[in-house]
Amino acid sequence: MRTKEIGKNLFQVELDTGGFRNLICSYIIRASKLTLVESGPTSSIPNLISGLKELEISLEDIQYLAITHVHLDHGGGAGTLLKFLPNAQVLVHKRGMPHLINPDRLWQSAQSVLGFVSEIFGKPEPVPKERIIPVTEGTFDLGNGAKLKTVETLGHASHNLSYQESFNNGVFPGDAAGTYFPEFDVVVPTTPPPFRLDVALTSLDKLINLQPTALYYSHFGKASNAVQRLRDYKSQLELWAKIAEEGMKQNRSFEQIRDRIIVEDKVMNQPAIASFIRSHRIYSKTVLENCIKGFVEYSKRKPDS
Ligand SMILES: [Zn+2]
Repeated sequence: MRTKEIGKNLFQVELDTGGFRNLICSYIIRASKLTLVESGPTSSIPNLISGLKELEISLEDIQYLAITHVHLDHGGGAGTLLKFLPNAQVLVHKRGMPHLINPDRLWQSAQSVLGFVSEIFGKPEPVPKERIIPVTEGTFDLGNGAKLKTVETLGHASHNLSYQESFNNGVFPGDAAGTYFPEFDVVVPTTPPPFRLDVALTSLDKLINLQPTALYYSHFGKASNAVQRLRDYKSQLELWAKIAEEGMKQNRSFEQIRDRIIVEDKVMNQPAIASFIRSHRIYSKTVLENCIKGFVEYSKRKPDS
């Protein structure tokens, strides 16, 4: 089984991208306007389709494909997926729209930032312009009183949207609330350059104000205790930023900054979690390199540092 029911009219699909479990998932909201949240990357579209079949969903019934942002692991597969969904329209932040229509630049930058990880995700195919609904903040009617609210939650990306579903009052944050490791029930930052700490903190306040009952992470799965988790994530971002800023002022190397984060962060300093991240082919690259780099670059750009 690659699907599971995680709430009222809500299902999670394990995408098994590149053979990695618990890395990326999509979600299905079973409203009268059937809605899919996240296509995931190009390479795992066949797995997503087999998940939809498992739930006995007819592909022509899907009305919306809601993308949190256009990064390869979230919206990269949209162009490929749409070939199988004749009636679906894509919801994406208006600033992400050009990258869906022409993914060339996105692919090039993903290759340089992610290296071999971009090859695991696969090259995105273009999405026809007429199938895209550009959004910022608003509410979509999913039929029979069900709603999908879109909330601008920038910081991780300049176009990250979160979606709030009305059946369970849960939120799909994309990458605005970190990466969730269901194995350990903890969150770590997802903050690659050009990460904006100030904007990310404001976005987290917006999510806290929604008082969600649950967070549905694209990486990975449903997490309870949503409001406290969002508050803890804010503190975690502030700690990483403080260590990066002090490290830069004291001319510390990247490795010294990284090692101090691992010592002082109460998630990262748990030996089982640290060794899980270090030995994970993807998280060792994203969490321990790109996400720390995001804070280092941010502290260089900060006008008052
Ligand atoms: Zn992501």
